[in-house]
This record gives sequence, structure tokens and C-alpha cells, in this order.
Amino acid sequence: MNQRRAFTAEAMWLDPGDGPRWMRRPWVELDEAGDITAIGRAAPEPRDDLVPLYDLGAAWVLPGLVNAHSHAFQRGVRGRTERMVPGVQSSFWGWRQAMYDEAGRLEPETLFDVTRACFHEMLRGGITCVGEFHYLHHQHDGQPYDQPNELGYAVAAAAADVGVRLTLLDAYYARSSHEQPPRAEQRRFCDASLDAYLARIDGLRTSLVSERVRVGLAPHSVRAVPKPALATIAEYAADHDLVVHAHVSEQPRENEECLAEHGGSPTSVLADAGLLDRPRRFTAVHAIHTTPADRERLASQHVCACPTTEANLGDGMVAGADLLARGATLCLGSDSNSIIDLVQEARLLEMGERLRLGRRLCLQDAYGHVAPVLVDAMTRGGASSLGWPNLGRLAVGTPFDATVVDREHLTLRDVPDDRVGDALLLAGSSAAIVHVYVAGEQLV
Ligand SMILES: [Zn+2]
Repeated sequence: MNQRRAFTAEAMWLDPGDGPRWMRRPWVELDEAGDITAIGRAAPEPRDDLVPLYDLGAAWVLPGLVNAHSHAFQRGVRGRTERMVPGVQSSFWGWRQAMYDEAGRLEPETLFDVTRACFHEMLRGGITCVGEFHYLHHQHDGQPYDQPNELGYAVAAAAADVGVRLTLLDAYYARSSHEQPPRAEQRRFCDASLDAYLARIDGLRTSLVSERVRVGLAPHSVRAVPKPALATIAEYAADHDLVVHAHVSEQPRENEECLAEHGGSPTSVLADAGLLDRPRRFTAVHAIHTTPADRERLASQHVCACPTTEANLGDGMVAGADLLARGATLCLGSDSNSIIDLVQEARLLEMGERLRLGRRLCLQDAYGHVAPVLVDAMTRGGASSLGWPNLGRLAVGTPFDATVVDREHLTLRDVPDDRVGDALLLAGSSAAIVHVYVAGEQLV
């Protein structure tokens, strides 16, 4: 058990009650559970129950970063899909085959190992909470394990071993595409029925949820889930107050197939199914090939951009500035985990807009500043998306989940104090992150 203590640093991104901003030389007091009890300008008075005062020195402290979209096992494909193979089309769909091969190889123990390695790399990069979009459920022939949530438990065990918080976004996957049954390599993703899926979710809700674990629903995509099932999932999520995530319009082909089946876009199908009815309880992952009408439907929801994966796969770039202007909450994901660096994801979100729109400073706040918008996406936006309203900010009553940036790192040296945030977010990387705390406990 921790004891009461207090931290100071050169600067911290704190929310004293009226929104987050950099505060210079603040003091943050924690209780035994690692929750913030006070934020002040002066060191706390010496008291019997508040012993150590920690000075983190030349450090700039951000809230723990929140990675809203990950498929941890795909880290196993890293570096293995970057050469032409005769007879294999170099496209998203060719990459997907390599990913399927990796998924087919995994057993509960090896899934734990690759997930733990992935989550450890996340923690080292300042990520303290991850949304794992988990669709690998069953044995190779599609038969459930004796414990139907065996693989979900393996993911949760990996998160617990590393110390990161987890929202297990348990996926429903029913078919290859419209009127096409699952392919052989997709059988591991598929439950026998929607009822069987929801029974697994009942099991996860009652056995897995804890101080560091949440559960959410993840109808994989409109390609993989028929519309009636989407509606049932929307009702279940509302009944149990769960967040819902889905892949949306990552590739043009997904839109074309959806138009042929439903006569509308994926976003319109999700809206018709009731998945967009509850404000800020749905996250559209990617949402790249969207129309203005689609983006308006997402105005009171989250959109999770995964820019390095989207670039790697040739998906395209999300219309982030337009979504932001409409009121959508942006968040970020490492997705395929070919690179795990949320600072780079944030920078690429803005740079993608610059390339797409042919101008600079696209994701601005009310003062014309970009960095605070990007910090928000990688902290509060992700936390909201994953159902953790208390995370993603450092404020009284929130856990001290924190990412410590070295002000003396060579990428930040000689940058003026009032531009450190700009330099980190728009010209830096997670290499400058040196320490990470979860619930007040130093894990890196
Ligand atoms: Zn994904």
C-alpha cells in the first residue's frame, strides 16, 4: 500500500477546476490510493501523515496517455509485411491475410506473451490505459474453449501484469461479408450466435470489471455484423451502460459493399441501428471515407484516428478538423501496433490534415493553438471513449496516472518554456518520456 505523498515538477498539465493547462512548479498531493487530493502553488506544510515530498526536477508532466484502439497481437506482424510477395496483392487485403496467419498461430499462452510485450511497450511510451479491440475468441475450428472467455482473460492478465488499465472491447464477428459465411481463418473470431456472444459479455461484466478493468462492446464493422445484430447490441449496451466501438469506413470497399447491401453508408447503418443514440458512448474507429452527412451523425460521438496504421495500410486520412468543428471528440489509437508512440499519432493527425487540406494549424483550439487539441485527443478524448470519465486529466479526485517528459531531452533542449508543449506534440516523439505513474505508483 502506498502512503500519502506529494509531487512537484517544473511544469504539469493540470486541471485546477476550469480546464487543463500548464502550471509551473505546482504541488500535487496524493492519498494512499494514489488519487489527487490537492493541487497548490506551495509545498504542503509538514504533517505527520504526509511524509515524502518528491521533486521530479526538470520534468514536464502530462496525464497518462490513453490508447483508444489496439489489436495487441498484431504487433507480431511488425516488419513482416513490407516486401512484395509474388502473387500477393500489395494492399490492405494482402496485409490482412498476413495478420490472419498470425491470429491463427496463437494459443492462450502465446497470446498472453505477445499482448504483454505490446502493453509493456505502451507503458514505456507513456500509455497508462488501453482499449483492446479483442476479436480472437475461440479455438482454431471455432469451438469455444472450456472457459469461453479464455483469450479475453489472457489479455486482461497481460494488462494486469504490466500495470496498465484496460477496457476490453470484446468484438462480435458474424460473417465474412453480406451473405458470405466466415472464412476458415475467421472462425476463431465468431461466436455460435448473438446470444452466445452476449452470454460471454455477461461473464466478462461479472468477473472481469475492477478498478483497472472495464468492458465494452465492439461490433467489428458493418461488413462483419448484420444490421439486426447491431440493433440488439445497441440495446444491450444501453441496458448495461457500456461503451461501443466499431471500425467504420476504413476502406472504400467497405463503403461500396455497405451501399450495395443497405443502400446507405456504414455510419447511416450504425445510426439506424441505434448505436449513435447515446451521446459520447460510441467510438467510430477510422471514419476515413465519410461524407459531411456521416460526420454530422458522429458529431456527439468519438472518432478514433490511428494515423500510423492508416498510413501503413494506405487507408487514407480522417477529416479531423471538420469532425472537431462539428463537435466530435477525437481520440487516438496505435491499432496494428507497427509503431507504438501516441505522440507520433497525435502529430500525424495534424500533419495528415495539413497534407489533405494544403494549409497549416488545422486542429486549433479557441486561441489558435494546436498542441492542446492533440493533448486532449491522447488523454481526455481517449478516456471518454473507453468509459473512464475520471482519467485523462490530472485534477482533484482523479488518480495520479502520469507521463513524465524530460525537459532536458535532446529534442526539447533550447526550446523556450512557453513552447515546450508545441515542440513535444508537433516536433517530438515519445522518446522524451522517461517515467510513468499509474495510481501514484511509478512503473517506469
Ligand atoms: Zn482496428
